[in-house]
Amino acid sequence: MARRYEDREADLGLLKDKRIAVVGYGNQGRAQALNLVDSGLDVVVGNREDEYRDVVRRDGLPLFSIAEAAAQADTLMLILPDEVQAEVYERDIAPNLRQGATVSVAHGYTLYYGIVEPRGDLDVVLVAPKMIGEGVRTRYLDGTGFASLVGVHHDASGQALATALAIAKGIGGMRPGAWVATIEEETVSDLFNEQTWGAALLAGMMESFDTLVSAGYDPDVVTLELFASGELADVLAAATRDGLLNGLRLHSPASQYGQLSRAPRFSSPASRESLAAILVEIRDGRFAKELDEVGRDEHRKIDELIETYRRHPLFDAEQRIRDAYAAVNAGSAAPDGPAS
Ligand code: NDP
Repeated sequence: MARRYEDREADLGLLKDKRIAVVGYGNQGRAQALNLVDSGLDVVVGNREDEYRDVVRRDGLPLFSIAEAAAQADTLMLILPDEVQAEVYERDIAPNLRQGATVSVAHGYTLYYGIVEPRGDLDVVLVAPKMIGEGVRTRYLDGTGFASLVGVHHDASGQALATALAIAKGIGGMRPGAWVATIEEETVSDLFNEQTWGAALLAGMMESFDTLVSAGYDPDVVTLELFASGELADVLAAATRDGLLNGLRLHSPASQYGQLSRAPRFSSPASRESLAAILVEIRDGRFAKELDEVGRDEHRKIDELIETYRRHPLFDAEQRIRDAYAAVNAGSAAPDGPAS
């Protein structure tokens, strides 16, 4: 069982009088930087001259080029998209980092694949919030916090784990606790989750839509039922709070029995083979190679895929429902809704 540290076991004092440079001010970087400031720590931001610089200025944090931020960092938080980290690290960060500084990543990806290889005098740690950036900020502000995985890639000072815990506490990522993971565990399980459960949700929605609409059911009714009403989000929230099985008790007996009796149909040898193949591609570096090519092409492949998916009629129905919700929330009638 992974060791779990409680909030009280982390010492924020380790980061007092130390300068933290947050490099990258996107989904995670902004949320983590603001939380660290609100935790009373000394934070500067490193960002290239591009769109997110304006956000840093609006937030009022000290802003530098990435090279300048790296040069003053006791702790450098590398919170750039994974596929650009190597280039930026080699060019702007590595030559400027002080002896004995700490480098912290929010996902183990570049360390696991050996894409970023920090010098031996540095502490290198993982502080991975198990939360999207928006939740990192809102849950810090409302006091609920979120869990983190923490790990050590290289411990030059003998203090690396303690520093990782202090960072986790500073960003609000220890309220439920922080679990210790290896870089490999965090990287592989995170990618696997995205490529299995995340991918299956998307495919399952589209396949279910096709099955029901081909059988003659109305696309909007089907889409509302599948996910667009928000019921699915509440179901998942209840499952997170009460447990996957306990959460079922909030459903009708028909729903409970339907889910429990049909779930084994999706645990087939074929689906187990797909899961195993995805794990192999993650571990042997094939997925990382693909992602590297996608990153080199400025993520055009992602835009192309989204456009291809968007042609599926599920997303037309989804848009109609979202428009209706937006109109109601804005206080006007739903567009083209039928008079009842
Ligand atoms: P974002 O895409 O939101 O990061 C955008 C930031 O990266 C901006 O500051 C942008 O600056 C900068 N940036 C992008 N490309 C470059 C480049 N080539 N050179 C210099 N700066 C660049 O990423 P996320 O915040 O989503 O992810 C960051 C890290 O956090 C990753 O390691 C990810 O795995 C991890 N993580 C993300 C989670 C999430 O929920 N998103 C959850 C947990 C971990 P600008 O465009 O202004 O130049």
